[in-house]
Amino acid sequence: MKYPRLIINETKFKNNVKVAIDICKKNNIDVLAVTKGFCGNRRMAELYSECGIKYFGDSRLENFDVYSDIEGHKQLLRIPSIFEIQDVVKKCDSSLNGDLNVIQKISKYCLNQNLKPHKIVLMVDLGDRREGVLPEETLYTVDQIINLKGVELIGLGCNFGCYGARIPSDEAMQIFVDLKHKIEQKYNIKLSHMSGGNSLSLHLVWENRMPKEINFLRMGFAMIFGTEDMYRKTIKGMFRDAFRCQAEVIEVDYKSSLPVGKCGIDAFGHKPYFEDIGDIKRIIVGIGKLDTMFDAMIPIDKDLKILGGSTDHLIINANDSKHNYKVGDIINFDLDWGSLLYLFNSKYVEKIFEK
Ligand SMILES: *Cc1c(COP(=O)(O)O)cnc(C)c1O
Repeated sequence: MKYPRLIINETKFKNNVKVAIDICKKNNIDVLAVTKGFCGNRRMAELYSECGIKYFGDSRLENFDVYSDIEGHKQLLRIPSIFEIQDVVKKCDSSLNGDLNVIQKISKYCLNQNLKPHKIVLMVDLGDRREGVLPEETLYTVDQIINLKGVELIGLGCNFGCYGARIPSDEAMQIFVDLKHKIEQKYNIKLSHMSGGNSLSLHLVWENRMPKEINFLRMGFAMIFGTEDMYRKTIKGMFRDAFRCQAEVIEVDYKSSLPVGKCGIDAFGHKPYFEDIGDIKRIIVGIGKLDTMFDAMIPIDKDLKILGGSTDHLIINANDSKHNYKVGDIINFDLDWGSLLYLFNSKYVEKIFEK
């Protein structure tokens, strides 16, 4: 018995993936399943594959190695760095791109090596202000790309809700698909890969607002947590709790809520603030900032309140709980994106797959 644990319910996760595929299929959209949250966990890629996923995306090239033998199109989601070009071309069927210099270097590499052109999806920044060219720069950029013989422009991509927390609007999507039509007409090419966003764009599909030109969505979050950031409700037919964390109580005590002594800085360089709520029952759980992101851990016992912690300890106010926690008890947590990432990435966390 080893804790902390990340528990993956395969049945619930696969159900979520199938529901997402069904929602998208009605609009002729393929789900490009995003594996980056699983930090190279092979079983997770297998689960996607068992659901019928044929397109996979990740931001880190190493993660593709783990499931290189699983059949499907592999797309690099983070715009490649100049030093990654060789591996991108080798490991990926396509990549998202935003910088003409990088695209030129990819082309040069493929030509030099006598490889077939690398497929690229040009990212267009519709307002979130992360990667991509601006709509007004897109045609100029495409002009340059068309002349490069070592790359093949297969489509355009857009992204919302990541850096700028922008929500996709009908106007932005219209600008996006207008660009597709302009490019196809001007260069007499077909842009067959129109990548219309991430999980935050899924609601456009079920609201019948997604332009028919969009035929791909890159999704992780919605299938992992059965929810998305627009409505923040569980998506019909999905489960919110396909993933959970279990950690062990390693100390229980009654202490004042206020530390004693002159206040300096904590282990992470911050000056903390403490509210004096008198003596409280506190439990220390054997999981720390090395393993997870506390803000993204939601105790399933709603009466538990996370107070904070340090590298290896999580401190919880258990004063209001109906349960009389003792050392050795297991605390269950629902997760969010930040904790999922850390837990999958921590070698100290056991990954348990349940049916
Ligand atoms: C991570 C990522 C996605 C997936 O986002 P979710 O919110 O998990 O659906 C899509 N596109 C890009 C470029 C990404 O980096």
